[in-house]
Amino acid sequence: MGRRHRDYKAEWESGGEAGEKPRKMCAVSGKRMYANEGEAKATATHRLRDPEAGAKQLRVYRCMYCNAWHLTSKEQ
Ligand SMILES: [Zn+2]
Repeated sequence: MGRRHRDYKAEWESGGEAGEKPRKMCAVSGKRMYANEGEAKATATHRLRDPEAGAKQLRVYRCMYCNAWHLTSKEQ
């Protein structure tokens, strides 16, 4: 159905790497789940160094829904 396509797009917008198999995704935000803050920050640092990722800034935050960590490029 169309839902799968939308989920993929949400992952892409959040900075997901092309060609990498998607891991656990948050059912609410559609973002990739990180088990802890360190893993999320390490990924954010890696993406900020990659010009192809196009990320200008990334913030890590704990999701109140899935209790995992996510990355966001939004200032909030
Ligand atoms: Zn979540």
